This record gives sequence, structure tokens and C-alpha cells, in this order.
Amino acid sequence: MTRAQLAIDRDRLWSDLMTLGVIGGTAAGGSYRPALSPADRAGRALFAHWAQEAGLALRIDAIGNMFARREGTDPTLPPVVIGSHLDTQMPGGRFDGPLGVLAGLEVARAMTRAGLATRHPVEIVNWTNEEGARFQPGVMGSAVYAGQLALGEVLERRDSTGVRLSDEMANARPGLSGIADAPLPGPVPHRYLELHIEQSARLETEGQDIAMVTRSSAMCSGYVSLHGENGHTQTLPMSRRRNALAAAAELILEIEKIGAGAEPDGMVGVSVIENWPNNRVNVPHLTRMSWAVVHLDAGERDRMVARIEAAVAAIRDARGLEITLEHRHYRAPVAFDQGLVTTGLEVAARLGLGAITMPTLTAHDALSLAGLCPTALIFVPCRGGVSHSEAEWCSPEQAANGARLLAEMARQAAG
Ligand SMILES: [Zn+2]
Repeated sequence: MTRAQLAIDRDRLWSDLMTLGVIGGTAAGGSYRPALSPADRAGRALFAHWAQEAGLALRIDAIGNMFARREGTDPTLPPVVIGSHLDTQMPGGRFDGPLGVLAGLEVARAMTRAGLATRHPVEIVNWTNEEGARFQPGVMGSAVYAGQLALGEVLERRDSTGVRLSDEMANARPGLSGIADAPLPGPVPHRYLELHIEQSARLETEGQDIAMVTRSSAMCSGYVSLHGENGHTQTLPMSRRRNALAAAAELILEIEKIGAGAEPDGMVGVSVIENWPNNRVNVPHLTRMSWAVVHLDAGERDRMVARIEAAVAAIRDARGLEITLEHRHYRAPVAFDQGLVTTGLEVAARLGLGAITMPTLTAHDALSLAGLCPTALIFVPCRGGVSHSEAEWCSPEQAANGARLLAEMARQAAG
């Protein structure tokens, strides 16, 4: 039963990653491809071109998810789906997302080079808008596929300049012929496999090659609005000011302390701030910020949210401002398929790769799929654990190690 390993072309995978990376490429070596932007559209077109070149049949659904299919000997069987996303943060790096899609493509090519026929079809997917950088929420395309988000609702979402997502959907479809429509919500896959950079530094610190992810964290994210009072910055006595921005500054520092106290299992971020009237000589009367809590334990997540609520109440009382905390979005922890975790560890051992298990703090498309079918999320190291950054980096060898593991898991799953 032991067959030769599928031969991953490390140099081809690396050249694909670097070629895609220069689309929306930034001077500092990152990529800037917000979902459905002209750069994302160019990235999609390149993926479609490579998929067709590899002999894969392309389909696209109404949220722009792209599927590249390698037929199985029994086309009626559900596919083994391999994927991730090609959109990036603003700016982002070259690996968060693209690694999982392009490694999937290389797995399909390796199967064809080996003359391998699988019973189940194998599909490589590019999920639309995983990052949620331009349109919220993130993990959008896969959640719509899984029926967790309503298509009609997300199509009405607008970016910060007022552009409606539905008006950008024309940009989801590369201008190539031979791309068929795919149904939505999507059919249940046989298995879903996603390769991703770790986005923290544990693999690097421990000198390991692969992590099989066991579960995700509990999350809660939303906005907080601080309502003060407008006035003249050079005449209104300091004692009478109800400065929304000053109160926001105090709250940001309190929230940062709550995050520091929750490490390493929990974190919290405030990263978007809007301020009105945002004029040099007006005391700000309204400030709005985003916040997001993650913790491996749902109870601890709730306690962190309660601490933020307490900080809001204290600052409201001390400064005489109205502060509203909007709980926008709770996400419960998701457990990944234990059988696939075990398979991944076995395959890694066979390939001579050092492998461990770990949870993930952050969200991935695999969370959407985990509710549909047995799902595996696989991590490879990234330098310094850095991601959502132009400095994000993963070596050619690390990328290829992930693809080799993915290839063997896909072959095993596809039969
Ligand atoms: Zn990602």
C-alpha cells in the first residue's frame, strides 16, 4: 500500500507565491489586495489562468468563491476541497491566504504529473473576502458557502468609501471563458483541507515544521462609540470639556491592559478609530472605535468583555460622557476533526517532518467548513510569527513542507 510520495515542485510553488505577491505589491515587500479591488481581480485572473493551464475546470458562485476542479473517477462523489483566500489585509503579506490556495494548486498539478486517478474529485478553492479588511465581516465567502451568512445581506455591505459589495461582484469573475456557475450555499464536501501560515511563533520557537490545529478560540468583536460635546479647543475651559477623543484614549489604554493580562491564551485589540468633527479647533464630540477579543476559553472571553464593560462604565462616570458598547459578533470555539489531526501527525512523521498540535487564536475559512464536513487546518511556521504585515515571511522549504503534507492528506482523503 506504500506508494511513492507525490512530488511537490518547491520552485514552482515558490515562484507562484512570488508572482502573485507582486500583484498589489508594496514597496516594503508586502501585498495590497483588498477583496474585489482591481488588484484582487488581477490575482483572481492569475489563479484562473494557472488553474486552466493545469487542466482544472473552473466554477464561480454568487459571492465570488472560485473552484478549480480535478475530476475524480467517480464524479458523483463529493469533492475533497483544498483552499484558503487570495485577498489580503491593507497592507498584508505574501503568504496569509495565498499559501493555502497555491499549495492546493501545486497538489493538483503533482497528482496529474504522477498520473494519479482519485475516486473523489479534488477542488481548489479561493474563498472571497476572508480578511474582512474592505468589507465586513471577514471569513465571508466561506461562511456564505456554508449557509452561515445570508448572501442577500452581505451583498448590501459597503466599504468605507460607500461602494456596495454587490456592485463589485462583477470584479469577482475573471474575464476568461469557460467558467461555469457554482451553487450557493455550496454542496457538502467530502473533506476540507486548509494550509496556512501559523501567524504566531510557536513552531519557530520549538523548531517544528507542522502544526495540526485542534480547535479555534472564542471571539467577540464590535464597536464602541463615545459621545461628548463639541467646543472651541482654545477657549473652552479644560474643566468643562467632554472630549470624546480624550475619553477614547483612556479607554484604549484600559483595554490594552485587559489584553496584556489575558496573554498568552487571550488578546484584545482596538485598531480602527474614527473621530468627529476631526478638525483642529473643535473639541471632538464623537469618537468610534473597533474592538475585538479572543480567548481560548469562552468563559475567559466573557470575563474580558465584562472587564471592558467595567472600564467603559468607569470612564463614563468620571468624564460625564455617554459611551455605548456594541457587541457585534460572537463566535464560539470550533473543534477540528480529530481523525484528520491524527492523520496529519502520521503523514508528517512519514515525511520526516516534526509536527505538533495547537489551537488557533484567529479565524480562518476552515472554521466555516468545520460545520459542514471533516476539516483540517494545517500550520507551517512564519518568520517571527509576524503576519498582517508586509514583513510576513515563510521560506520556500517551509511552504513546500506544508504542500507535501497537504498532498498526502488529499490523496488519502480522495481515495
Ligand atoms: Zn488568512
